[in-house]
Amino acid sequence: MPSESYRTLYRLIEALPVVSSHEHHQTDDFQRQLTLDRMIEKSYVGWRGLLPGADPSSRGAFLAQCRHSSYFVWLEKGIQRVHGFSEKITADNWDEVSARISRAHAANPAAHIDILREVGRYRRAVQDTYWEYGSDVGHPELFAPTMRTDMFVRCFHPDVLDHDANTPFAHYPDAPREDFADYLDFLQALFTRWRSAGAVAMKSASAYERPLAYGAGDRAVAAAVFGQPPETVSAQARGTYEEFMFNWFCELALKLEVPFQIHTGLGQLAGSQPLLFESTIARYPQLHFVLFHMGYPWYHEIAGLAHNYANVSMDMVWAPIISPSAAVAALHQYLEVARSSDLIAWGSDTWTSEDAVGALLAWQYVVATVLAQKVDDGYFDMAEAEVLAHKLMYRNAARIYGFDLT
Ligand SMILES: [Zn+2]
Repeated sequence: MPSESYRTLYRLIEALPVVSSHEHHQTDDFQRQLTLDRMIEKSYVGWRGLLPGADPSSRGAFLAQCRHSSYFVWLEKGIQRVHGFSEKITADNWDEVSARISRAHAANPAAHIDILREVGRYRRAVQDTYWEYGSDVGHPELFAPTMRTDMFVRCFHPDVLDHDANTPFAHYPDAPREDFADYLDFLQALFTRWRSAGAVAMKSASAYERPLAYGAGDRAVAAAVFGQPPETVSAQARGTYEEFMFNWFCELALKLEVPFQIHTGLGQLAGSQPLLFESTIARYPQLHFVLFHMGYPWYHEIAGLAHNYANVSMDMVWAPIISPSAAVAALHQYLEVARSSDLIAWGSDTWTSEDAVGALLAWQYVVATVLAQKVDDGYFDMAEAEVLAHKLMYRNAARIYGFDLT
């Protein structure tokens, strides 16, 4: 039985506006053709896939496998909330649920935006369009882009692809290929244009393909590597190129006056431990690093970094749907150790509005649980819990990314 403080706080939280630090919201075209299958495919449930040997054609086997995982639990809650039913999704009602989803999106091409605004109460969101860097997917009133750096950090030659199969030389055929200084000028102009057009942050998800430990890099080595066929470049020289480029982007983030969002945890697993990023945090004391995903499973390392460094904030994006119980434990710690409770934010990290609503329900649960426990333990009173509810649901993210909500 939830406590009286939990019920009071939950009622407050579910009525508050929402600002998200991170989404991969799909385009109008994709949303218009949404089905249950397509929604699952573009979700963490689908991303993680089936166990080896599982029958991909059996919906019953798929549901039996994933039903108790947090990703599925919150996706199902999101679909139920948006489409107004309470039964579990089963192999028997799958087609009916899918048809209900399709009808809603086919009848109203703006349904996906209406859901975010009306069911999710989203006011603004930072959008990471890794398939088209710098895009607001045609909805600048809701989405402001983050400027992804991954392919520029990774790729020194058209044959080198990053973990999303991107290379700058395919996306930007005009990018200089001969002279490294010209190439860097091209990148600076590109990012400056994105910033002028409304981008509010820089973003690295390079932890999916290399460790978070970045040395300072070396411009001469990077210039020598640039344009070389990959089979002629040593692993060490490649690493130095990546380090130089990453540091170059840190300098550019300072010039463009944007925070740098960093994927930590759950990338290439051992290399994505948040503490590996400490030397970079120390190298740029003036640059605001937003550490994502509570560095799962190392959420205490994020707390340690935020305790010691003033230029770090803790973003619980994705965390509540990875593990709500870990997110509860982490948020307790983050509130306790943060230099300021202004430094904790959240995003859904999803591709569809139904999944975003499910992730929001998970975040509301985490926030209400932690704040109510803190009130019930006498750590702070209800008035402070209410202040924090406003900060965690929208105020902190709006401040960090410069959104004016008035
Ligand atoms: Zn993401």
